Amino acid sequence: MDSARTFAIHTLGCKLNYSESSAIAKKLAEEGFDKVAFKEKADVYIINTCSVTHEADKECRYIVRTVLNRAPGAFIAIIGCYAQLKPQEIAKIEGVDLVLGASEKFNIATYLHDLDKKTYTEIHSCEIEQPLGFHSAYSSGDRARSFLKVQDGCDYSCSYCTIPLARGKSRSDTVENVLKNVNEIASKGVREIVLTGVNLGDFGISNPESGQHTETFHELVMALDNNDADVRFRISSIEPNLLKNETIEWVANSKRFTPHFHIPLQSGSDDILKKMRRRYLRDLYADRVATIKSLMPHCCIGVDVITGFPGETDEHFNETYKFLNELNVSYLHVFTYSERANTLATESADVVPVEVRRKRNRMLQILSEKKLRHFYEQNLGTERTVVFEGGSKDGFLYGYTDNYVRVKTEFDEMLEYNTANVLLKAINPDRTASADIIESSIKVNKQVVSAIY
Ligand code: SF4
Repeated sequence: MDSARTFAIHTLGCKLNYSESSAIAKKLAEEGFDKVAFKEKADVYIINTCSVTHEADKECRYIVRTVLNRAPGAFIAIIGCYAQLKPQEIAKIEGVDLVLGASEKFNIATYLHDLDKKTYTEIHSCEIEQPLGFHSAYSSGDRARSFLKVQDGCDYSCSYCTIPLARGKSRSDTVENVLKNVNEIASKGVREIVLTGVNLGDFGISNPESGQHTETFHELVMALDNNDADVRFRISSIEPNLLKNETIEWVANSKRFTPHFHIPLQSGSDDILKKMRRRYLRDLYADRVATIKSLMPHCCIGVDVITGFPGETDEHFNETYKFLNELNVSYLHVFTYSERANTLATESADVVPVEVRRKRNRMLQILSEKKLRHFYEQNLGTERTVVFEGGSKDGFLYGYTDNYVRVKTEFDEMLEYNTANVLLKAINPDRTASADIIESSIKVNKQVVSAIY
């Protein structure tokens, strides 16, 4: 009987994948499947893959082997970006029964009527050029924070990126449906919602083929701010050219949107930005940062940057380093460039040796550490709002301030999944900073919390 069947799902990659795994799990539960933890025995194991890591193949192979050692007769389904990009490659992995592409993964239940192990791998994968529908999703299982997918796909063609090939053209939810999801998430007691997408700034972009609406990201921000659900909002990552001044100004005056932006830069050299086919130059990026900081001096700004892109000389890298060093940002997410099949960048002959790419990565990691410490120091003596997470880790409870300072306090179950105002007091030698709780959404005694990297 269907109702007795169990499934387990494992997610690789980004927040979008996590939100989609939750939506798929919810659908399967509605179809009568019981969810179990991935390390337990299940009838069906689903692996939601990512194409960003160049080791996707190895990782997938390893997980399938581990699962089959534990449950030799289990049915294995591979979904997600890697499944859309390389279905035939996955089909060669021994023990895989089903591969579902970008659009089919949301209908997985219809492919799970017969769970007998197959002698061949069934592949269902659409042409990515076809207009794909939008499937809304949000992550569940964590009452502190939920990742809400509001947009999917990308219409750009950065020369190193496979995401448009894996996820298709840009499309998004309607403001009305996002509000419905927000109220649903808030009703479960979740304290923070992270707006998530591949290219959030293109929320609502018109797509005549699929008859998409034309609401803008700024309209979404305004509508969420005016909604009265008891949650705060964080914008996950937004392209600098799509982050409008009106949105920065709105966030600066909002009590619900957190003062935190994550803005991909990728390179501080205009030559490299052009080779990457990014849609802005470094001056635009610097302008955005200056505007944010002039309106919100306490705002946290995170930066994505890639080292060792083809053609990146020492001079180009030094330009990037100097640019970032002088930029008033809080932390860097540094990626070492790695070749992706079917991307323009792989056709370049100016390959940067892998050890040089890695060395540059390490230099930027060190710069990131310095920036983060400086940002934390700037926050000492300020009062911030923390959403605490759940569970004791070594006797401590963790959370983030609105401006993304990581804090911890001695575990107190009264504080779990609750909001508190704290005064950040000092950074300790072990890179923690102590702080006092001034006020919380529940009654607690005054106690010390620490901010950590
Ligand atoms: S904006 Fe560029 S890097 Fe980002 S998803 Fe689109 S193509 Fe990829």
